[in-house]
Amino acid sequence: MRMPADAVDINERLAQMLSRLKEHAFRITPQRMAILKVLAASEGHPSVERIYETVRMDFPTTSIATVYKTVNLLKQLNEVLELGFPDGSNRYDGHKPYPHPHVICTECKKIIDPNLGSLEELTSEVVNETGFIIQNHRVDFFGTCPDCQSR
Ligand SMILES: [Zn+2]
Ligand SMILES: [Zn+2]
Repeated sequence: MRMPADAVDINERLAQMLSRLKEHAFRITPQRMAILKVLAASEGHPSVERIYETVRMDFPTTSIATVYKTVNLLKQLNEVLELGFPDGSNRYDGHKPYPHPHVICTECKKIIDPNLGSLEELTSEVVNETGFIIQNHRVDFFGTCPDCQSR
């Protein structure tokens, strides 16, 4: 499978997160390291609960508060992208912590990153149309994933 030009290696993301956290004197415990690893991969764009469940398999004493704290700090440092939803089921992408489009299955709630070209063209169209200075964008496609279609 061809990697999109902007995708980085999971280990590279982990190293980037670690160096940012060390700059902020954040103590890296084994539990926090495990949380960072889940976020560096961000497979399926996990929720805090999902991260908690994953990390607890190896570190049963991890508290959900530790997960929230770590995620919030990374969010402040722009090292994780938060995808908020009206029902409060926030999901996270630490692999690509910058704005990018998402495809969301409304049945199983799976979220994937489509391998699209840049949104630069769309953004300049928006700028020309509205005169806004754009700082950020959020593009979500909702639908039914192949797994759910065949169910
Ligand atoms: Zn699905
Ligand atoms: Zn994503």
